[in-house]
Amino acid sequence: MCRHVAWLGRPRTLASLIHEPGNGLLQQSYAPRLQRYGKVNADGFGVGWYDPARAEPVRYRRAVPIWTDANLPALAQVARSGCLLAAVRSATVGMPIEETATAPFTDGPWLLSHNGRVAREVARELSDEAESLCDSAWLAAAVFARRRAGHPLGDALAEVVAHAGAKDPEARLNLLACDGASIAATVWGDTFFLHLGDDGVLAASEPLDNRPGWQAVPERNLVVASSGGVRFQPL
Ligand code: GLN
Repeated sequence: MCRHVAWLGRPRTLASLIHEPGNGLLQQSYAPRLQRYGKVNADGFGVGWYDPARAEPVRYRRAVPIWTDANLPALAQVARSGCLLAAVRSATVGMPIEETATAPFTDGPWLLSHNGRVAREVARELSDEAESLCDSAWLAAAVFARRRAGHPLGDALAEVVAHAGAKDPEARLNLLACDGASIAATVWGDTFFLHLGDDGVLAASEPLDNRPGWQAVPERNLVVASSGGVRFQPL
């Protein structure tokens, strides 16, 4: 299914997640190495980042393969931030292929991506409305409703995943979200890795390169990374 990646740390460009690494998100869109479901992520892509000029993140998403957007490489070279998120999509059978079904979803300062699937009726129980009929859009809406109720990022993800996972035993619920100052991710059904460096943390569905130091996050965990460090919590 999808692949996603986020960075928190010293400002860097989107290109450093997408185009520059040997197994960056562009490569992962047509030749992912570890993806468990689906082979090609050609149904859309999206990026989001934070800029001091705006209170809310900048989000750019399209329902076309990432390699077909000839304007993206230049944009990605100058989109620079201490907090970035990017995703490529392989639509689940039966889900619409449209921009509003494409991550990152956003609300206020939050950005969110979903790698997986969940029965739509289960996702729809968690929220009143969503921008698309896609399961991921409903999950995002459920997380964002909890944001508006004041829940911290990690708690909002954990609650939604616990609920959806209990109602749908077949669900796969790898969520990745950020708010400009922290990244939170759940691992529930697909691969997920961290790379902790001196200048920040990379969180990704699969390693972006062959450097040592990539660690797989065990199944059914919540990871929260902030300037205070990284914490893990079983789900
Ligand atoms: N179910 C979601 C969708 O259809 C996510 C799919 C995925 O992980 N590739 O977009």
